Amino acid sequence: MIPFSPPHIKQEAIDEVVDTLKSGWITTGPKTKLFEQKITEYCGNKKTLCVNSATFGLEIILNWFGVGKGDEVIIPAYTYTATANTIIHTGATPIMVDINENDFNINIDEIKKAITHKTKVIIPVDIAGLPANFEAINNLVKTSEIINQFRATTENQKKLGRILILSDAAHSFGATYKNKKTGSLTDISVFSFHAVKNLTTAEGGAIALNLSEPFDCNEIYTELNTMSLHGQSKDALAKTQKGAWKYDVIDAGYKGNMTDIQASLGLISLKYYEIDNLPRRKEIFTQYQSAFAKKIWAQLPIIEDNVRTTSYHLYTLRIKNITETQRNEIIQNIFDNDVSVNVHFQPLPLLTAYKNRGYKIENYPIAYQNYSCEISLPVYQDLTNEQVELVINTVINSVEKIIL
Ligand SMILES: *Cc1c(COP(=O)(O)O)cnc(C)c1O
Repeated sequence: MIPFSPPHIKQEAIDEVVDTLKSGWITTGPKTKLFEQKITEYCGNKKTLCVNSATFGLEIILNWFGVGKGDEVIIPAYTYTATANTIIHTGATPIMVDINENDFNINIDEIKKAITHKTKVIIPVDIAGLPANFEAINNLVKTSEIINQFRATTENQKKLGRILILSDAAHSFGATYKNKKTGSLTDISVFSFHAVKNLTTAEGGAIALNLSEPFDCNEIYTELNTMSLHGQSKDALAKTQKGAWKYDVIDAGYKGNMTDIQASLGLISLKYYEIDNLPRRKEIFTQYQSAFAKKIWAQLPIIEDNVRTTSYHLYTLRIKNITETQRNEIIQNIFDNDVSVNVHFQPLPLLTAYKNRGYKIENYPIAYQNYSCEISLPVYQDLTNEQVELVINTVINSVEKIIL
């Protein structure tokens, strides 16, 4: 069986974890701080805080910005549930909008239609690793018409004076927009280092801060760091200093810090990210593209255009003119031939939690259309050329068996 996306763990990463385990310091400490610096250097943003997941990162930022009951947050209907769940937790309302047919990302005209005086945040999602249209989104929220209807109710909202752009960059670590890396493309971005993501710490995430003046990203970092550790004024490492036992709790915080064990995996993974991870992913994507380009029934994913390059996270193949049922039959057939594939994603209005909240898939025709003919193929560093060939042949046979 060819798996869908097993992690690639080098001996060097295992050694780094063992080093941490033997060091006497296993929770948040020097390796987490070093990993944060390395991410900042790599992405070119202003400051980075590592956390236990992208989900936590999104949620703490919504809270930091003072999003709550009565507020609206705009998201694409086509995303993983974490993007929306975090909004529900704050008491605010997720406003789902439809996506672009060509690249699966949030549609700018749909965003325009959805903005109201209650809109506090927009969360674009870089689906499959291809950045959303950040230039258009960043410019949109800075137009006077949209600034004028923004109603700031908290300190940070007043300071920003407009809708916050919080990028869900869970898929797009290493992707670029006009030669700038994700993390540096908008106000704040959140990365995921979950086991299936390009760069993994088993579980983990990072908040890439990139707010401009009058915000001070170092100050925000300190505040978020404290709030991700119960609101405690000193972290565990600071408390190990001689006589430094006493601390204060400045607010009822959360618990979402990254451990040095996780950071050990991240440090080694990042060290080789551009050396062997991204290049291998690119090769696999290219092999898929050239094989499926020969098939008239295949709609190939965009992997780069004149402004963007993907992080090669998910290879989202679409089969033209098929129904959801046919797509499901094709997937069954592929699995029967020992190849694992996936679907990214079921639009949120198809899921019980959001159906029950009144979201209707009929309002998101493009999301539904893209979903119903999509199949994600295996992409991971240890996938060999022969295996890629096997995946291609299996997919072609399965598709042609069902549609011809
Ligand atoms: C994986 C994923 C998340 C959640 O990441 P975690 O680190 O598991 O919390 C959020 N958004 C998208 C689009 C994802 O794919």
